[in-house]
Amino acid sequence: MVDTYGHCSTCGKNMLIEQVLDGKLEKRFTADYDEVQYLLDNGSRMRVVVCKQCQEKGKQDDTKEVMQTVINGWKKEVDDLVADPKRPDWTKERGDKHMKEYSSISIVTDKEKEFKGAKKESSGG
Ligand SMILES: [Zn+2]
Repeated sequence: MVDTYGHCSTCGKNMLIEQVLDGKLEKRFTADYDEVQYLLDNGSRMRVVVCKQCQEKGKQDDTKEVMQTVINGWKKEVDDLVADPKRPDWTKERGDKHMKEYSSISIVTDKEKEFKGAKKESSGG
């Protein structure tokens, strides 16, 4: 699965809909749309789109799968930049280096609420 804007990261459902309102194209999310916040091992936080149905099934706890989908999404973005003739600064070498760095990132805690609870635990060091 490749992480795509407005799509569920675990089932791939598109939750981005386009509507014409008063002659203007408006983009909005369906009622299934939801996000989960994860803490990454590089200390940053990441919001990932996981639909309500998948969250009911606990799919957001499958952090390896979620992370792989996100990394695939980054890889696609980088591939697009490398292929873009308007972005000569994105050489293949730069893309490879970027992805080498980013593909090693993993999720440390599944959810924001667990992240808050995890502060008590020792950081190991
Ligand atoms: Zn889903």
